[in-house]
Amino acid sequence: MSAEKTSVTVVIPVYNEKDNISELLERTLKACRALGRAGRSWELILVDDGSRDGSSEILAEAARNNPGEIKALLLNRNYGQHNAILCGFGAAQGDILITLDADLQNPPEEIGNLVAKIDEGFDVVGSIRQDRQDALFRKVFSGIINMMVRKSTGVKLRDYGCMLRAYRRRVVDAMLSCRERHTFIPVLANLFAKRVTEIPVGHAERARGTSKYSVLNLINLQFDLLTCMTTAPLRILSWIGAGISALSIGFGALLLILRLVYGTEWAENGVFTLFAVVFFFIGAQFIALGLMGEYIGRIHADVRERPRYIVDRVVGETLGECQSAKVAMAHVARES
Ligand code: UDP
Ligand code: MG
Repeated sequence: MSAEKTSVTVVIPVYNEKDNISELLERTLKACRALGRAGRSWELILVDDGSRDGSSEILAEAARNNPGEIKALLLNRNYGQHNAILCGFGAAQGDILITLDADLQNPPEEIGNLVAKIDEGFDVVGSIRQDRQDALFRKVFSGIINMMVRKSTGVKLRDYGCMLRAYRRRVVDAMLSCRERHTFIPVLANLFAKRVTEIPVGHAERARGTSKYSVLNLINLQFDLLTCMTTAPLRILSWIGAGISALSIGFGALLLILRLVYGTEWAENGVFTLFAVVFFFIGAQFIALGLMGEYIGRIHADVRERPRYIVDRVVGETLGECQSAKVAMAHVARES
């Protein structure tokens, strides 16, 4: 292996994907071994995010059967996809870090292309799903979210939702140093990357099993994305509040004038209008409070500084670990 070629770590979060793992490993290992033949060192880190379907045992077995290639990190319970990835990043030794989903929606065959793009000098390489195979509501939803992220971060990527991505080591180190507990990795990465690009990649339907995101999970994830990205909604709220107050003063004045012109009888009949107005303000206040609550909740979570995850078991050694462990052992043996 030539020293100048950067090493690669592929991180895959796995949550109840037992039927997908064998094809996933076969295809991913093939792609990684091709990197190896091109003179790069590489490792595959599989993070089991508290699966209950036996996935963790399959991953542990794979790590035992592929020493030097696969490491399995088994979390003690489900911490969510992004925390699982951060756990994998924490254990990764490569200079280039790649993430992809375990359900084979992201073709592992694209790994080589992502690596090549990083080699061109980019800090982050995202991917745009061609002919995306997801439900219509998710595509529409994604479109809106992508537009919001573009506006808010000023980084003009087209597809933030696709987790088939590559990061340079320094970007990942910066992400790992962030203390926030609720985060959305592709957006977080933008904060630390100078050169960001995207490449088109294929997209398949989920091979087996069902999506791990219910509609409620997806909504929660959007809050993570929003709050990790910006505090602008809080500011917008103040503006909306100011606008509503100004309008209500105008409206009050109008009601007064109408009362003077048409008399008290009219004013009584306007009670329902007033109700409508009051409900509007109550609604606006609840939205404002809710949004503030989202931020305060996150501040609360971060202040507590609970660990993002607990690793139950690590199976397997990769890259230089076996070698350095042997050297260390030899050293100890000599000294004793
Ligand atoms: N995943 C995870 N923890 C979770 C939810 C999902 O590690 O709590 C993994 C899952 O196994 C898959 C990836 O994250 O590898 C994406 O999940 P999924 O395919 O269900 O999401 P979708 O494609 O529907 O957005
Ligand atoms: Mg999927």
